[in-house]
Amino acid sequence: MTRYVQPVPAPDDPYTGDGLLRSWLERRLGPAGHAAAKARLADLAADVVGPLRAAHADAEAHPPTLVRYDPWGARVDRIDTSAGWQAQRAAAARHAVVALPYLDSARGTWGAAARVVQHALLHLYGPESATFSCPVAMADGAAALLSLPEVDAGVRDAWLPRLTSTDPGTAIVSGQWMTESQGGSDLSRSGTTARPAGDGSWRLTGEKWFCSAADATMAVALARPEGAGAGSRVLAPFLVPRYAADSPLADADADADADAAPYAPAPGVTVHRLKDKLGTRALPTAEVGLREAYALPLGDPAVPGLVRAMTLVVVTRVHNAAAAAGGMRRGLAYARAYADARTVAGGRLVDNPLHRATLGALAVDAAAAFALAGHAFALLGRVEVGADPDAAAELRVVAPLAKLATGRLAVSSASEYVEAFGGAGYVEDTGVPRLLRDAQVLPIWEGTTNVLALDVLRAVTREDAGAPLLRRLSAAVDLARPMSPALADTLAAATADLTAALADAAADPRAVDVVAGARGLALRAAAALTAALLVEHAAWGDEQAEVAARLWARCRLRHEDIAADAHQHLDLLC
Ligand SMILES: Cc1cc2nc3c(=O)[nH]c(=O)nc-3n(C[C@H](O)[C@H](O)[C@H](O)COP(=O)(O)OP(=O)(O)OC[C@H]3O[C@@H](n4cnc5c(N)ncnc54)[C@H](O)[C@@H]3O)c2cc1C
Repeated sequence: MTRYVQPVPAPDDPYTGDGLLRSWLERRLGPAGHAAAKARLADLAADVVGPLRAAHADAEAHPPTLVRYDPWGARVDRIDTSAGWQAQRAAAARHAVVALPYLDSARGTWGAAARVVQHALLHLYGPESATFSCPVAMADGAAALLSLPEVDAGVRDAWLPRLTSTDPGTAIVSGQWMTESQGGSDLSRSGTTARPAGDGSWRLTGEKWFCSAADATMAVALARPEGAGAGSRVLAPFLVPRYAADSPLADADADADADAAPYAPAPGVTVHRLKDKLGTRALPTAEVGLREAYALPLGDPAVPGLVRAMTLVVVTRVHNAAAAAGGMRRGLAYARAYADARTVAGGRLVDNPLHRATLGALAVDAAAAFALAGHAFALLGRVEVGADPDAAAELRVVAPLAKLATGRLAVSSASEYVEAFGGAGYVEDTGVPRLLRDAQVLPIWEGTTNVLALDVLRAVTREDAGAPLLRRLSAAVDLARPMSPALADTLAAATADLTAALADAAADPRAVDVVAGARGLALRAAAALTAALLVEHAAWGDEQAEVAARLWARCRLRHEDIAADAHQHLDLLC
Protein backbone atom coordinates (compact mmCIF):
# COMPACT_ATOMS: atom_id res chain seq x y z
CA MET A 1 0.00 0.00 0.00
CA THR A 2 1.43 3.42 -0.92
CA ARG A 3 1.73 5.95 1.85
CA TYR A 4 -0.70 8.82 1.39
CA VAL A 5 0.83 12.27 1.57
CA GLN A 6 -1.46 15.23 2.10
CA PRO A 7 -1.39 18.01 -0.48
CA VAL A 8 0.40 21.17 0.59
CA PRO A 9 -1.88 24.17 0.24
CA ALA A 10 -0.70 26.82 -2.20
CA PRO A 11 -2.70 30.00 -1.65
CA ASP A 12 -3.18 32.58 -4.39
CA ASP A 13 -0.84 35.53 -4.78
CA PRO A 14 -1.86 37.82 -1.90
CA TYR A 15 -2.21 40.86 -4.18
CA THR A 16 -3.56 39.59 -7.48
CA GLY A 17 -5.68 36.97 -5.68
CA ASP A 18 -7.39 39.44 -3.35
CA GLY A 19 -10.29 40.92 -5.29
CA LEU A 20 -11.54 43.06 -2.43
CA LEU A 21 -8.11 44.63 -1.86
CA ARG A 22 -7.79 45.47 -5.55
CA SER A 23 -11.26 46.96 -5.93
CA TRP A 24 -10.81 48.92 -2.68
CA LEU A 25 -7.62 50.45 -4.08
CA GLU A 26 -9.32 51.17 -7.39
CA ARG A 27 -12.06 53.08 -5.59
CA ARG A 28 -9.93 54.86 -2.99
CA LEU A 29 -7.02 55.76 -5.26
CA GLY A 30 -8.77 55.99 -8.62
CA PRO A 31 -7.49 54.01 -11.61
CA ALA A 32 -4.39 56.20 -12.02
CA GLY A 33 -3.58 56.11 -8.32
CA HIS A 34 -3.96 52.35 -8.20
CA ALA A 35 -1.85 51.98 -11.32
CA ALA A 36 0.87 54.04 -9.60
CA ALA A 37 0.82 51.65 -6.63
CA LYS A 38 0.73 48.37 -8.58
CA ALA A 39 4.45 47.78 -9.05
CA ARG A 40 5.12 48.45 -5.37
CA LEU A 41 2.37 46.05 -4.27
CA ALA A 42 3.32 43.36 -6.76
CA ASP A 43 6.98 43.55 -5.65
CA LEU A 44 6.03 43.13 -2.03
CA ALA A 45 3.62 40.26 -2.80
CA ALA A 46 6.39 38.48 -4.74
CA ASP A 47 8.72 38.86 -1.76
CA VAL A 48 6.03 37.64 0.64
CA VAL A 49 5.41 34.38 -1.22
CA GLY A 50 9.15 33.80 -1.64
CA PRO A 51 11.93 34.92 0.69
CA LEU A 52 9.71 36.50 3.33
CA ARG A 53 7.63 33.37 3.81
CA ALA A 54 10.88 31.51 4.43
CA ALA A 55 12.12 34.29 6.72
CA HIS A 56 8.85 34.14 8.64
CA ALA A 57 9.30 30.41 9.23
CA ASP A 58 12.94 30.90 10.25
CA ALA A 59 12.11 33.67 12.72
CA GLU A 60 9.33 31.59 14.27
CA ALA A 61 11.62 28.57 14.56
CA HIS A 62 14.45 30.60 16.13
CA PRO A 63 12.96 32.90 18.75
CA PRO A 64 15.08 35.68 20.23
CA THR A 65 17.34 35.08 23.18
CA LEU A 66 18.67 37.45 25.81
CA VAL A 67 22.40 37.35 26.52
CA ARG A 68 22.82 39.10 29.85
CA TYR A 69 26.59 38.84 30.33
CA ASP A 70 29.60 38.62 28.08
CA PRO A 71 32.13 35.84 28.71
CA TRP A 72 34.07 38.09 31.15
CA GLY A 73 31.08 38.95 33.30
CA ALA A 74 30.25 42.38 31.89
CA ARG A 75 26.53 43.07 31.69
CA VAL A 76 25.62 43.31 27.98
CA ASP A 77 21.83 42.72 27.81
CA ARG A 78 22.10 41.78 24.15
CA ILE A 79 19.06 40.39 22.35
CA ASP A 80 20.03 37.93 19.64
CA THR A 81 17.51 37.55 16.84
CA SER A 82 17.33 35.19 13.89
CA ALA A 83 18.33 35.76 10.28
CA GLY A 84 14.62 35.56 9.45
CA TRP A 85 13.82 38.43 11.81
CA GLN A 86 16.59 40.50 10.24
CA ALA A 87 15.24 39.71 6.77
CA GLN A 88 11.80 40.92 7.85
CA ARG A 89 13.34 44.09 9.24
CA ALA A 90 15.18 44.79 6.00
CA ALA A 91 12.08 44.08 3.90
CA ALA A 92 9.91 46.41 5.97
CA ALA A 93 12.38 49.22 5.23
CA ARG A 94 12.91 48.35 1.57
CA HIS A 95 9.19 48.18 0.85
CA ALA A 96 8.54 51.43 2.78
CA VAL A 97 5.98 49.74 4.99
CA VAL A 98 6.57 52.39 7.67
CA ALA A 99 7.98 55.15 5.49
CA LEU A 100 5.43 55.45 2.72
CA PRO A 101 3.03 58.01 4.25
CA TYR A 102 5.99 60.22 5.21
CA LEU A 103 7.63 60.25 1.78
CA ASP A 104 7.17 63.48 -0.20
CA SER A 105 6.96 61.42 -3.38
CA ALA A 106 4.10 59.31 -1.98
CA ARG A 107 2.20 62.32 -0.67
CA GLY A 108 2.74 63.94 -4.06
CA THR A 109 1.27 60.95 -5.89
CA TRP A 110 -1.54 59.93 -3.55
CA GLY A 111 -1.99 62.85 -1.15
CA ALA A 112 -3.99 61.78 1.91
CA ALA A 113 -4.47 58.37 0.31
CA ALA A 114 -0.80 57.52 0.86
CA ARG A 115 -2.15 55.93 4.05
CA VAL A 116 -4.48 53.79 1.89
CA VAL A 117 -1.47 52.48 -0.04
CA GLN A 118 0.36 51.87 3.22
CA HIS A 119 -2.61 49.87 4.49
CA ALA A 120 -2.40 47.71 1.36
CA LEU A 121 1.32 47.16 2.02
CA LEU A 122 0.57 46.14 5.61
CA HIS A 123 -2.21 43.83 4.42
CA LEU A 124 0.33 42.02 2.27
CA TYR A 125 3.34 42.24 4.57
CA GLY A 126 1.89 41.66 8.06
CA PRO A 127 0.48 38.12 8.15
CA GLU A 128 3.77 36.37 7.37
CA SER A 129 6.15 38.87 8.93
CA ALA A 130 6.73 36.82 12.10
CA THR A 131 5.00 39.81 13.78
CA PHE A 132 7.62 42.28 12.62
CA SER A 133 4.35 44.11 11.93
CA CYS A 134 4.51 45.06 15.64
CA PRO A 135 7.77 47.07 15.48
CA VAL A 136 6.50 48.46 12.18
CA ALA A 137 3.38 49.76 13.95
CA MET A 138 5.36 51.27 16.80
CA ALA A 139 7.88 52.87 14.45
CA ASP A 140 5.02 54.44 12.51
CA GLY A 141 3.43 55.65 15.76
CA ALA A 142 6.75 57.14 16.88
CA ALA A 143 7.19 58.82 13.49
CA ALA A 144 3.69 60.35 13.75
CA LEU A 145 4.51 61.63 17.24
CA LEU A 146 7.85 63.06 16.13
CA SER A 147 6.05 64.81 13.27
CA LEU A 148 3.96 66.91 15.68
CA PRO A 149 4.88 70.61 15.54
CA GLU A 150 5.31 70.76 19.33
CA VAL A 151 8.24 68.34 19.17
CA ASP A 152 11.66 70.02 19.19
CA ALA A 153 12.93 70.29 15.61
CA GLY A 154 16.40 69.10 16.61
CA VAL A 155 15.00 65.88 18.06
CA ARG A 156 12.77 65.39 15.04
CA ASP A 157 15.59 65.98 12.55
CA ALA A 158 17.85 63.54 14.36
CA TRP A 159 15.37 60.65 14.61
CA LEU A 160 12.48 60.94 12.13
CA PRO A 161 14.64 60.33 9.01
CA ARG A 162 15.94 57.11 10.59
CA LEU A 163 12.42 55.84 11.34
CA THR A 164 11.23 56.63 7.84
CA SER A 165 14.30 55.49 5.94
CA THR A 166 13.81 52.97 3.13
CA ASP A 167 17.45 51.93 3.34
CA PRO A 168 17.75 48.76 5.45
CA GLY A 169 21.24 49.91 6.41
CA THR A 170 20.00 53.04 8.18
CA ALA A 171 16.33 52.38 8.94
CA ILE A 172 15.41 51.87 12.58
CA VAL A 173 12.26 50.87 14.41
CA SER A 174 10.92 51.90 17.80
CA GLY A 175 9.55 50.34 20.94
CA GLN A 176 6.76 51.78 23.04
CA TRP A 177 7.34 51.58 26.78
CA MET A 178 4.06 52.31 28.51
CA THR A 179 2.80 49.29 30.44
CA GLU A 180 3.98 48.84 34.01
CA SER A 181 3.18 45.84 36.18
CA GLN A 182 0.91 47.81 38.51
CA GLY A 183 -1.11 49.19 35.62
CA GLY A 184 -1.26 48.60 31.89
CA SER A 185 -4.73 49.83 31.14
CA ASP A 186 -4.67 52.07 34.21
CA LEU A 187 -1.88 54.45 33.25
CA SER A 188 -2.64 56.71 36.21
CA ARG A 189 -0.62 54.26 38.31
CA SER A 190 2.52 54.71 36.22
CA GLY A 191 5.55 54.98 38.47
CA THR A 192 8.30 55.90 36.02
CA THR A 193 9.63 59.37 36.81
CA ALA A 194 11.39 61.94 34.65
CA ARG A 195 13.70 64.68 35.89
CA PRO A 196 15.25 67.44 33.82
CA ALA A 197 19.01 67.19 33.48
CA GLY A 198 19.40 70.92 32.81
CA ASP A 199 20.66 70.63 29.26
CA GLY A 200 17.32 69.90 27.58
CA SER A 201 17.63 66.16 28.12
CA TRP A 202 15.89 64.27 30.94
CA ARG A 203 16.60 61.22 33.07
CA LEU A 204 14.05 58.43 33.41
CA THR A 205 13.80 55.99 36.30
CA GLY A 206 11.25 53.20 36.58
CA GLU A 207 10.23 49.74 35.51
CA LYS A 208 8.47 48.86 32.25
CA TRP A 209 6.68 45.52 32.22
CA PHE A 210 5.98 44.79 28.53
CA CYS A 211 8.41 46.21 25.98
CA SER A 212 8.00 44.64 22.56
CA ALA A 213 10.66 45.05 19.91
CA ALA A 214 13.08 45.34 22.81
CA ASP A 215 15.87 45.16 20.20
CA ALA A 216 14.68 48.41 18.58
CA THR A 217 17.08 51.36 18.42
CA MET A 218 14.77 53.69 20.32
CA ALA A 219 11.62 53.62 22.40
CA VAL A 220 8.92 56.08 23.27
CA ALA A 221 8.50 55.85 27.05
CA LEU A 222 5.76 57.38 29.16
CA ALA A 223 6.98 58.98 32.39
CA ARG A 224 5.73 61.33 35.06
CA PRO A 225 7.69 64.61 34.97
CA GLU A 226 8.99 65.70 38.36
CA GLY A 227 6.35 67.79 40.16
CA ALA A 228 3.62 67.01 37.62
CA GLY A 229 1.28 65.44 40.16
CA ALA A 230 -0.95 62.40 40.01
CA GLY A 231 -3.16 61.00 37.28
CA SER A 232 -2.56 59.92 33.71
CA ARG A 233 -3.11 63.20 31.78
CA VAL A 234 0.21 64.65 32.97
CA LEU A 235 2.29 61.69 31.79
CA ALA A 236 4.65 62.75 29.03
CA PRO A 237 6.24 60.86 26.13
CA PHE A 238 10.06 60.70 25.99
CA LEU A 239 12.39 59.27 23.39
CA VAL A 240 14.86 56.84 24.96
CA PRO A 241 17.88 55.72 22.92
CA ARG A 242 18.20 51.98 23.53
CA TYR A 243 21.88 51.63 22.68
CA ALA A 244 25.06 53.27 23.95
CA ALA A 245 25.90 54.43 20.46
CA ASP A 246 23.01 56.95 20.66
CA SER A 247 23.32 57.91 24.33
CA PRO A 248 25.49 60.91 25.26
CA LEU A 249 25.82 59.33 28.73
CA ALA A 250 27.97 56.55 27.33
CA ASP A 251 31.60 57.39 28.08
CA ALA A 252 34.35 57.57 25.53
CA ASP A 253 35.47 54.01 26.25
CA ALA A 254 31.92 52.81 25.77
CA ASP A 255 31.81 54.72 22.50
CA ALA A 256 34.89 52.87 21.37
CA ASP A 257 33.30 49.61 22.51
CA ALA A 258 30.13 50.55 20.65
CA ASP A 259 32.03 50.30 17.39
CA ALA A 260 32.94 46.75 18.24
CA ALA A 261 29.62 45.91 19.92
CA PRO A 262 27.00 48.16 18.37
CA TYR A 263 24.27 46.69 20.57
CA ALA A 264 25.74 47.67 23.93
CA PRO A 265 22.83 49.01 26.00
CA ALA A 266 22.60 52.69 26.80
CA PRO A 267 23.65 53.50 30.37
CA GLY A 268 20.68 53.09 32.71
CA VAL A 269 18.76 50.74 30.40
CA THR A 270 18.59 47.15 31.67
CA VAL A 271 16.77 44.23 30.06
CA HIS A 272 15.65 42.03 32.97
CA ARG A 273 14.24 39.17 30.94
CA LEU A 274 12.31 38.25 27.80
CA LYS A 275 8.68 37.19 28.19
CA ASP A 276 7.82 33.57 27.42
CA LYS A 277 4.63 34.20 25.44
CA LEU A 278 1.68 32.25 24.04
CA GLY A 279 2.39 33.67 20.57
CA THR A 280 4.32 36.44 18.78
CA ARG A 281 7.30 34.24 19.60
CA ALA A 282 9.72 35.80 17.14
CA LEU A 283 9.09 39.21 18.67
CA PRO A 284 11.32 40.02 21.64
CA THR A 285 9.11 41.37 24.43
CA ALA A 286 11.08 42.33 27.51
CA GLU A 287 10.85 43.69 31.00
CA VAL A 288 13.05 46.78 31.05
CA GLY A 289 14.50 48.72 33.97
CA LEU A 290 15.40 52.40 33.67
CA ARG A 291 17.83 54.03 36.10
CA GLU A 292 18.56 57.64 35.27
CA ALA A 293 18.37 56.72 31.58
CA TYR A 294 19.00 59.49 29.05
CA ALA A 295 15.77 60.67 27.39
CA LEU A 296 14.58 63.44 25.12
CA PRO A 297 11.17 65.02 25.66
CA LEU A 298 8.67 64.76 22.81
CA GLY A 299 6.91 68.08 23.36
CA ASP A 300 7.05 70.19 26.50
CA PRO A 301 6.82 67.88 29.55
CA ALA A 302 5.21 70.76 31.51
CA VAL A 303 2.21 70.47 29.19
CA PRO A 304 0.10 67.37 30.01
CA GLY A 305 1.42 64.83 27.55
CA LEU A 306 -1.02 61.94 27.35
CA VAL A 307 -2.83 63.67 24.49
CA ARG A 308 0.48 63.82 22.57
CA ALA A 309 1.15 60.16 23.29
CA MET A 310 -2.29 59.32 21.90
CA THR A 311 -1.00 60.36 18.45
CA LEU A 312 1.21 57.29 18.63
CA VAL A 313 -1.49 55.09 20.15
CA VAL A 314 -4.04 55.92 17.44
CA VAL A 315 -1.51 54.85 14.81
CA THR A 316 -0.67 51.59 16.56
CA ARG A 317 -4.37 50.84 17.05
CA VAL A 318 -5.18 51.19 13.37
CA HIS A 319 -2.12 49.04 12.59
CA ASN A 320 -3.60 46.46 14.96
CA ALA A 321 -6.80 46.48 12.91
CA ALA A 322 -4.74 46.06 9.74
CA ALA A 323 -2.86 43.15 11.31
CA ALA A 324 -6.16 41.50 12.27
CA ALA A 325 -7.69 41.98 8.83
CA GLY A 326 -4.52 40.91 7.01
CA GLY A 327 -4.15 37.80 9.15
CA MET A 328 -7.78 36.87 8.57
CA ARG A 329 -7.45 37.22 4.82
CA ARG A 330 -4.23 35.13 4.71
CA GLY A 331 -5.73 32.48 7.00
CA LEU A 332 -8.73 32.32 4.70
CA ALA A 333 -6.48 32.00 1.65
CA TYR A 334 -4.64 29.07 3.27
CA ALA A 335 -7.88 27.38 4.37
CA ARG A 336 -9.39 27.83 0.92
CA ALA A 337 -6.29 26.42 -0.77
CA TYR A 338 -6.38 23.43 1.55
CA ALA A 339 -10.08 22.87 0.84
CA ASP A 340 -9.34 22.96 -2.89
CA ALA A 341 -6.82 20.15 -2.48
CA ARG A 342 -8.20 18.00 0.33
CA THR A 343 -10.65 15.17 -0.38
CA VAL A 344 -13.44 14.17 2.03
CA ALA A 345 -16.49 11.94 1.64
CA GLY A 346 -15.59 11.17 -1.95
CA GLY A 347 -15.16 14.73 -3.15
CA ARG A 348 -13.13 17.87 -2.75
CA LEU A 349 -13.61 19.62 0.57
CA VAL A 350 -14.32 22.86 -1.25
CA ASP A 351 -17.31 21.23 -2.98
CA ASN A 352 -18.82 20.14 0.32
CA PRO A 353 -21.80 22.43 1.09
CA LEU A 354 -21.16 22.50 4.83
CA HIS A 355 -17.47 23.33 4.50
CA ARG A 356 -18.24 25.90 1.81
CA ALA A 357 -20.69 27.58 4.17
CA THR A 358 -18.07 27.59 6.93
CA LEU A 359 -15.48 29.21 4.67
CA GLY A 360 -18.05 31.59 3.20
CA ALA A 361 -18.97 32.93 6.63
CA LEU A 362 -15.26 33.39 7.40
CA ALA A 363 -14.85 35.27 4.14
CA VAL A 364 -17.62 37.66 5.14
CA ASP A 365 -15.81 38.35 8.43
CA ALA A 366 -12.52 38.86 6.59
CA ALA A 367 -14.16 41.37 4.23
CA ALA A 368 -15.70 43.15 7.22
CA ALA A 369 -12.38 43.45 9.04
CA PHE A 370 -10.68 44.69 5.88
CA ALA A 371 -13.29 47.41 5.39
CA LEU A 372 -12.96 48.59 8.99
CA ALA A 373 -9.17 48.71 8.90
CA GLY A 374 -9.15 50.29 5.45
CA HIS A 375 -11.56 52.99 6.56
CA ALA A 376 -9.45 53.80 9.63
CA PHE A 377 -6.33 54.25 7.45
CA ALA A 378 -8.22 56.43 4.98
CA LEU A 379 -9.36 58.69 7.84
CA LEU A 380 -5.87 58.83 9.33
CA GLY A 381 -4.48 60.01 6.00
CA ARG A 382 -7.10 62.77 5.77
CA VAL A 383 -6.22 63.93 9.29
CA GLU A 384 -2.50 64.03 8.56
CA VAL A 385 -2.68 65.52 5.07
CA GLY A 386 -5.06 68.45 5.08
CA ALA A 387 -5.99 68.33 8.79
CA ASP A 388 -9.57 67.40 7.83
CA PRO A 389 -11.72 68.12 10.94
CA ASP A 390 -14.52 65.74 9.88
CA ALA A 391 -12.04 62.92 9.47
CA ALA A 392 -10.48 63.73 12.86
CA ALA A 393 -13.89 63.63 14.56
CA GLU A 394 -14.72 60.30 12.96
CA LEU A 395 -11.28 58.77 13.56
CA ARG A 396 -11.70 59.51 17.27
CA VAL A 397 -14.32 56.78 17.44
CA VAL A 398 -13.33 54.64 14.46
CA ALA A 399 -9.80 53.90 15.72
CA PRO A 400 -10.95 52.17 18.95
CA LEU A 401 -13.95 50.59 17.20
CA ALA A 402 -11.85 49.15 14.39
CA LYS A 403 -9.24 47.89 16.82
CA LEU A 404 -11.65 46.19 19.19
CA ALA A 405 -13.96 44.67 16.58
CA THR A 406 -11.23 43.30 14.31
CA GLY A 407 -9.26 41.93 17.27
CA ARG A 408 -12.20 39.79 18.30
CA LEU A 409 -12.98 38.71 14.74
CA ALA A 410 -9.35 37.71 14.23
CA VAL A 411 -9.40 35.36 17.21
CA SER A 412 -12.68 33.65 16.32
CA SER A 413 -11.61 33.32 12.68
CA ALA A 414 -8.16 31.97 13.55
CA SER A 415 -9.75 29.22 15.62
CA GLU A 416 -11.86 28.26 12.60
CA TYR A 417 -8.85 28.34 10.26
CA VAL A 418 -7.01 25.92 12.52
CA GLU A 419 -10.06 23.65 12.57
CA ALA A 420 -10.41 23.91 8.78
CA PHE A 421 -7.11 21.99 8.49
CA GLY A 422 -8.34 19.21 10.78
CA GLY A 423 -5.55 17.58 12.79
CA ALA A 424 -2.87 19.12 10.61
CA GLY A 425 -3.98 22.53 11.85
CA TYR A 426 -2.92 21.56 15.36
CA VAL A 427 0.56 20.41 14.36
CA GLU A 428 3.30 22.97 14.85
CA ASP A 429 5.41 22.47 11.75
CA THR A 430 2.48 23.04 9.40
CA GLY A 431 2.72 26.67 10.57
CA VAL A 432 -1.05 26.75 11.12
CA PRO A 433 -1.19 26.83 14.96
CA ARG A 434 0.58 30.17 15.11
CA LEU A 435 -2.38 31.77 13.30
CA LEU A 436 -4.37 31.23 16.48
CA ARG A 437 -1.56 32.07 18.92
CA ASP A 438 -0.68 35.28 17.14
CA ALA A 439 -4.31 36.34 16.76
CA GLN A 440 -4.93 36.12 20.50
CA VAL A 441 -2.69 39.08 21.23
CA LEU A 442 -4.69 41.39 18.99
CA PRO A 443 -7.52 42.02 21.50
CA ILE A 444 -5.01 42.49 24.34
CA TRP A 445 -2.22 44.86 23.39
CA GLU A 446 -2.94 48.47 22.44
CA GLY A 447 -5.92 48.28 24.79
CA THR A 448 -8.17 45.35 25.66
CA THR A 449 -11.73 45.11 24.37
CA ASN A 450 -13.15 46.50 27.62
CA VAL A 451 -10.67 49.33 27.81
CA LEU A 452 -11.39 50.34 24.22
CA ALA A 453 -15.14 50.03 24.81
CA LEU A 454 -14.77 52.54 27.65
CA ASP A 455 -12.76 54.78 25.32
CA VAL A 456 -15.60 54.60 22.80
CA LEU A 457 -18.07 55.44 25.58
CA ARG A 458 -15.97 58.48 26.55
CA ALA A 459 -15.74 59.57 22.91
CA VAL A 460 -19.47 59.37 22.26
CA THR A 461 -20.61 60.84 25.56
CA ARG A 462 -18.01 63.57 26.11
CA GLU A 463 -16.81 64.42 22.61
CA ASP A 464 -19.96 63.86 20.53
CA ALA A 465 -18.05 61.34 18.45
CA GLY A 466 -21.27 59.43 17.82
CA ALA A 467 -22.49 62.13 15.43
CA PRO A 468 -20.15 61.33 12.48
CA LEU A 469 -20.88 57.65 12.99
CA LEU A 470 -24.63 58.13 12.81
CA ARG A 471 -24.26 60.39 9.76
CA ARG A 472 -22.34 57.67 7.94
CA LEU A 473 -24.94 55.05 8.88
CA SER A 474 -27.86 57.20 7.71
CA ALA A 475 -26.16 57.88 4.38
CA ALA A 476 -25.54 54.15 3.94
CA VAL A 477 -29.25 53.38 4.43
CA ASP A 478 -29.98 55.48 1.31
CA LEU A 479 -27.15 53.82 -0.63
CA ALA A 480 -28.40 50.36 0.34
CA ARG A 481 -32.03 50.94 -0.69
CA PRO A 482 -31.58 50.35 -4.47
CA MET A 483 -29.35 47.33 -3.76
CA SER A 484 -31.61 45.55 -1.32
CA PRO A 485 -34.60 46.95 0.60
CA ALA A 486 -34.04 44.30 3.29
CA LEU A 487 -30.44 45.44 3.75
CA ALA A 488 -31.53 49.09 3.91
CA ASP A 489 -34.20 48.24 6.50
CA THR A 490 -31.72 46.28 8.61
CA LEU A 491 -29.25 49.15 8.54
CA ALA A 492 -32.00 51.66 9.34
CA ALA A 493 -33.07 49.58 12.35
CA ALA A 494 -29.45 49.32 13.56
CA THR A 495 -29.04 53.09 13.16
CA ALA A 496 -32.20 53.74 15.19
CA ASP A 497 -31.08 51.29 17.87
CA LEU A 498 -27.66 52.92 18.09
CA THR A 499 -29.11 56.43 18.17
CA ALA A 500 -31.25 55.47 21.16
CA ALA A 501 -28.40 53.67 22.92
CA LEU A 502 -26.05 56.64 22.47
CA ALA A 503 -28.68 59.01 23.85
CA ASP A 504 -29.19 56.75 26.89
CA ALA A 505 -25.44 56.58 27.46
CA ALA A 506 -25.03 60.34 27.13
CA ALA A 507 -27.82 60.94 29.67
CA ASP A 508 -25.83 59.24 32.43
CA PRO A 509 -22.43 57.94 31.23
CA ARG A 510 -21.47 56.72 34.71
CA ALA A 511 -24.63 54.71 35.34
CA VAL A 512 -23.71 51.15 36.19
CA ASP A 513 -25.76 49.64 33.37
CA VAL A 514 -24.20 52.06 30.86
CA VAL A 515 -20.66 51.11 31.96
CA ALA A 516 -21.54 47.41 32.11
CA GLY A 517 -23.01 47.67 28.63
CA ALA A 518 -20.09 49.56 27.08
CA ARG A 519 -18.66 46.50 25.33
CA GLY A 520 -22.04 45.58 23.85
CA LEU A 521 -22.60 49.14 22.69
CA ALA A 522 -19.18 49.34 21.04
CA LEU A 523 -19.60 46.00 19.30
CA ARG A 524 -23.04 47.00 18.01
CA ALA A 525 -21.65 50.30 16.77
CA ALA A 526 -18.76 48.52 15.04
CA ALA A 527 -21.08 45.99 13.42
CA ALA A 528 -23.33 48.73 12.05
CA LEU A 529 -20.37 50.80 10.86
CA THR A 530 -18.95 47.74 9.09
CA ALA A 531 -22.22 47.17 7.26
CA ALA A 532 -22.22 50.82 6.19
CA LEU A 533 -18.64 50.62 4.89
CA LEU A 534 -19.39 47.50 2.88
CA VAL A 535 -22.52 49.15 1.48
CA GLU A 536 -20.45 52.19 0.42
CA HIS A 537 -18.02 49.96 -1.41
CA ALA A 538 -20.88 47.97 -2.96
CA ALA A 539 -22.54 51.20 -4.11
CA TRP A 540 -19.31 52.08 -5.94
CA GLY A 541 -19.81 48.86 -7.91
CA ASP A 542 -18.13 46.01 -6.07
CA GLU A 543 -20.20 42.83 -6.20
CA GLN A 544 -18.19 41.05 -3.51
CA ALA A 545 -18.83 43.93 -1.11
CA GLU A 546 -22.53 43.81 -1.88
CA VAL A 547 -22.75 40.13 -1.00
CA ALA A 548 -20.58 40.66 2.08
CA ALA A 549 -22.74 43.62 3.18
CA ARG A 550 -25.95 41.60 2.88
CA LEU A 551 -24.54 38.57 4.68
CA TRP A 552 -22.79 40.63 7.36
CA ALA A 553 -25.99 42.58 8.08
CA ARG A 554 -28.06 39.42 8.29
CA CYS A 555 -25.56 37.61 10.48
CA ARG A 556 -24.31 40.41 12.73
CA LEU A 557 -27.21 42.84 12.82
CA ARG A 558 -30.19 40.45 12.55
CA HIS A 559 -28.46 37.37 14.00
CA GLU A 560 -29.69 35.07 11.21
CA ASP A 561 -28.06 31.90 9.93
CA ILE A 562 -26.33 32.75 6.64
CA ALA A 563 -25.06 29.26 5.82
CA ALA A 564 -27.05 28.75 2.61
CA ASP A 565 -25.96 32.09 1.12
CA ALA A 566 -22.40 31.79 2.40
CA HIS A 567 -22.15 28.41 0.67
CA GLN A 568 -23.55 29.77 -2.57
CA HIS A 569 -21.28 32.83 -2.72
CA LEU A 570 -18.01 31.31 -1.54
CA ASP A 571 -16.28 31.61 -4.92
CA LEU A 572 -17.12 35.28 -5.16
CA LEU A 573 -16.03 35.97 -1.59
CA CYS A 574 -12.64 34.21 -1.77
C1 LIG B 1 2.68 40.09 23.67
C2 LIG B 1 2.46 41.41 24.32
C3 LIG B 1 3.27 42.47 23.98
C4 LIG B 1 3.09 43.70 24.58
N1 LIG B 1 3.91 44.73 24.21
C5 LIG B 1 3.79 45.93 24.82
C6 LIG B 1 4.66 47.01 24.49
O1 LIG B 1 5.51 46.91 23.61
N2 LIG B 1 4.53 48.16 25.16
C7 LIG B 1 3.59 48.34 26.13
O2 LIG B 1 3.52 49.42 26.70
N3 LIG B 1 2.75 47.33 26.46
C8 LIG B 1 2.82 46.14 25.83
N4 LIG B 1 1.97 45.12 26.17
C9 LIG B 1 1.07 45.30 27.28
C10 LIG B 1 -0.36 45.46 26.91
O3 LIG B 1 -0.59 46.66 26.24
C11 LIG B 1 -1.15 45.34 28.21
O4 LIG B 1 -0.98 44.03 28.69
C12 LIG B 1 -2.59 45.68 28.04
O5 LIG B 1 -2.74 47.05 27.77
C13 LIG B 1 -3.41 45.33 29.28
O6 LIG B 1 -2.85 45.87 30.43
P1 LIG B 1 -2.55 44.93 31.70
O7 LIG B 1 -1.71 43.79 31.25
O8 LIG B 1 -2.02 45.77 32.80
O9 LIG B 1 -3.95 44.33 32.11
P2 LIG B 1 -5.03 45.01 33.03
O10 LIG B 1 -5.16 46.44 32.67
O11 LIG B 1 -4.75 44.69 34.44
O12 LIG B 1 -6.34 44.23 32.57
C14 LIG B 1 -6.81 43.03 33.17
C15 LIG B 1 -8.27 42.84 32.74
O13 LIG B 1 -9.02 43.91 33.27
C16 LIG B 1 -9.80 44.53 32.26
N5 LIG B 1 -9.86 45.95 32.58
C17 LIG B 1 -8.83 46.79 32.82
N6 LIG B 1 -9.30 48.02 33.08
C18 LIG B 1 -10.64 47.95 33.01
C19 LIG B 1 -11.67 48.89 33.19
N7 LIG B 1 -11.43 50.16 33.52
N8 LIG B 1 -12.95 48.46 33.05
C20 LIG B 1 -13.23 47.18 32.72
N9 LIG B 1 -12.29 46.25 32.55
C21 LIG B 1 -11.00 46.63 32.69
C22 LIG B 1 -9.06 44.28 30.97
O14 LIG B 1 -9.96 44.30 29.88
C23 LIG B 1 -8.48 42.90 31.22
O15 LIG B 1 -9.41 41.92 30.84
C24 LIG B 1 2.10 43.88 25.56
C25 LIG B 1 1.28 42.80 25.89
C26 LIG B 1 1.45 41.59 25.29
C27 LIG B 1 0.56 40.46 25.69
